[in-house]
Amino acid sequence: MVIEDEPDILEVIQYNLEREGHKVIACRNGEQGLSRIRTDNPDLVILDLMLPGMDGVEVCRQVKSDPVTKAIPIIMVTAKSEESDIVLGLGIGADDYICKPFSTRELIARVKVVLRRGPLREESGGGERVVRGSLTIDLGRHEARVEEALVNLTPTEMRLLHFLASHPGRVFPRAHLLSRVIGEDAIVTDRNIDVHVRALRQKLGDHQSLIETVRGVGYRFAEAAR
Ligand code: CA
Repeated sequence: MVIEDEPDILEVIQYNLEREGHKVIACRNGEQGLSRIRTDNPDLVILDLMLPGMDGVEVCRQVKSDPVTKAIPIIMVTAKSEESDIVLGLGIGADDYICKPFSTRELIARVKVVLRRGPLREESGGGERVVRGSLTIDLGRHEARVEEALVNLTPTEMRLLHFLASHPGRVFPRAHLLSRVIGEDAIVTDRNIDVHVRALRQKLGDHQSLIETVRGVGYRFAEAAR
């Protein structure tokens, strides 16, 4: 489903997705989009943030807070300068974002990635083992290894690395990472996560590029390492 109020952009997106073999439901405003999401259960929503009436943020919030629709992936479309919108959108559960102006090829690539990885999985608790290339993280044993060598991590660094590595290619805002790996109650600022990331990178040594900085937004685990 594509929710976009600008007819020209909507038409271009629809044309290109259909050429890739996708069936497209086109919506011109947030209210209509939200109601069609509920009735049509699309595989993916491409959602423009700036919409008349109900805006994209509100559509995303409603989709992601409803147990029936929350697993439907959302790619937000935003203007390049609106970093705060990106952070907000990812914070309320959008799965990815793309900045205007974007190339068709870029959009198609994002759609492929998001469809392939499916909805954000919640961690299944202790003992979960994640392997990405030469990196292995075993939460249950509190062990991280790079090429078999143990990496000495603090519990917070361990949770941070495990969470990021569990979702390669996905961008997480700092505030989201904080609440996931440190806890809502901690008296911390967003920048606190930078300290943990810096320490983590230092310990990863030659593999520190696995944790990528997304400027103005947050961090992600390298997609290529999946
Ligand atoms: Ca718009």
